[in-house]
Amino acid sequence: MSSNQWNFDNTYLTLPDDLYTREQLHLVSKPEIVVKNIQLAHDLGLDIAIFDSQEIFAGNSLPEGAEPIAQAYAGHQFGHFSILGDGRALLLGEHVTPDNERFDIQLKGSGRTPYSRMGDGRSPLAPMLREYIISEAMHALAIPTTRSLAVATTGEQVRREVTLPGAVLTRVAASHIRVGTFEYAVRLEDSEVIQALADYTINRHYPELNREENKYLALLDKVIDQQAALIAKWQAVGFIHGVMNTDNMAISGETIDYGPCAFMDAFNPGTVFSSIDVQGRYQYQNQPAIGLWNLSRFAETLVTLIDRDEAKALEHAQQALQQYEKLYMNYYLTEMGRKLGIHSIAEDDDQLVIDLLTLMEEHELDYTGTLRTLAENKVENITIRNEQAFTDWYQRWQKRIRTEDRPYELMKSVNPVVIPRNHLVEEALQDAAEHNDYTQFNKLVEVVTDPYNEAHAEKYLCGPEPEEQVFQTFCG
Ligand code: AMP
Ligand code: MG
Ligand code: MG
Repeated sequence: MSSNQWNFDNTYLTLPDDLYTREQLHLVSKPEIVVKNIQLAHDLGLDIAIFDSQEIFAGNSLPEGAEPIAQAYAGHQFGHFSILGDGRALLLGEHVTPDNERFDIQLKGSGRTPYSRMGDGRSPLAPMLREYIISEAMHALAIPTTRSLAVATTGEQVRREVTLPGAVLTRVAASHIRVGTFEYAVRLEDSEVIQALADYTINRHYPELNREENKYLALLDKVIDQQAALIAKWQAVGFIHGVMNTDNMAISGETIDYGPCAFMDAFNPGTVFSSIDVQGRYQYQNQPAIGLWNLSRFAETLVTLIDRDEAKALEHAQQALQQYEKLYMNYYLTEMGRKLGIHSIAEDDDQLVIDLLTLMEEHELDYTGTLRTLAENKVENITIRNEQAFTDWYQRWQKRIRTEDRPYELMKSVNPVVIPRNHLVEEALQDAAEHNDYTQFNKLVEVVTDPYNEAHAEKYLCGPEPEEQVFQTFCG
C-alpha cells in the first residue's frame, strides 16, 4: 500500500482503554468517492493520490498507520444524561502534517460499534453532504470547525423512513474530545482516568497551561473562553447548530457534529430549524446560554482535579463560569462592531447593534443580506430605507463610523456575500443524493468557500423567495 504521506501517530491509544474500543472495518459493497477536498488534502500535506484509494474513504481498507477505534463518551441530550460513544464513526487515528500539526481522521457512517445501541452505524448520503458543505463554509467564514476531506458512497442502502443511499464522510478535527468525553470519564469513578484525560487534553490542545499553578482550573478557564468566542461567531454569522448537546461540544473549541444545523435568513431570535427540537431549546437566541449550561457540566467533571477540598473546588469553578457572560458579550460585540465598520467597539456602541437587530426583526429583514448591503454602501437597496426609525439609526451609525479608518473595507471583509442558505443546500443535496447530479453541489461548495467575493452577490446575496423558504431540517 502506498502511503501518500499519511503520517499516523495515534496518541489517543495511550489513554486508559476504558475510553475507547479497538474496532474492525465493516466492508461495504461498492465504495465510490463522490466529493473530495483537494485543497484540504494539500493543507494536510497529503498527496491527492490519496483519493485513488476509494476503498479507504468508505472504510473498506486502512491507510498505512491507522489503528481504528470507536471513542466512548456520554452526554446530556436535550438536558438528559446518556451514555453514548461513536455509534457510527471510526477514528482511524491522528495524522501529523509536515508542519507538525495533529488532526484526527474520522470516518462517519462507517458501521456498527459497541456504542451503536439501536442504530445501524450508517448514514444516508444527504446528511454527510450537508456536513461537508456547511463545515467547509464555516471554515471559509473563519469559524473554528472540523473539516471534511471526502464523501464516499457505499453502494448500500440505508433504511430510515424511506430507503436512502449510504455514505461515509471523512472528517478532520483538532480532536474529537468532547464535554461528553469528560462526563464519561468521570463516571468511571477512577480518578486516574479523568486525570489522564485532562492531562492528555492539556498536552494536546493547550500545552501552555502546564505552566499554570492549577492547570485543571486553567483548562476550565480556557475552554470557557474558547466556547464564548466560538458561540459569539455563530451568533454573528446567524448560524444555528441545532443540537447543542454536551456530546456535541468539542474541547478544542471547534464546531462539531453538524446535524440539523442551518443559517438564519430573516433575522428572528426565536429561529429553530431542527425537526427534533420541539421545545426550541436550541433556538438561535438560546445558544449563548446553552453554552454556559454545557460548560457547567464540563466544570463538574473537573471538580476533583481542581482542588481536593470540594468546597474550594466548587467555588473556583463557579468563579470561572461567572466569567462566561462577560467574555461572550465582549466577543459578540467585537464581532458585531466589525460588521458595522467599528474596529474596536466601545461601551455605548452596543445600542447601535441592538437597534439595528430590532429593526431587522420588526421588518423581517434578511440578516446576512442587510449587513452586506450596508457594507456595500448601498442603502438604496434596503427596503425600509424611508422608515423614520431606520433613517434615524442610519444617521447615528454614519456619524459613528466617520472616525473609523476605512470602515467599509472592514465591513466587506467580515460580512459574507454567501452563506450556505437552506433552500440552496436542500436543492443541491436533493440533486446529488436523489439524481446523482453534483453540478449544483459543486457550484455551491465553490461559492460558500469564497464567501466575501462581491462577484457572487447577484446570484447569492438574496434570501429565499417566500415559496423557497425551508423551515425544518432533519438529523441523519
Ligand atoms: P448525533 O446526534 O449524531 O450527535 O449522535 C448522538 C449519538 O447517537 C452518538 O452516540 C452517535 O454515535 C449515535 N448515533 C447517531 N446515529 C446513529 C446510527 N445510525 N447508528 C448508531 N449510532 C448512531
Ligand atoms: Mg476499551
Ligand atoms: Mg454527536
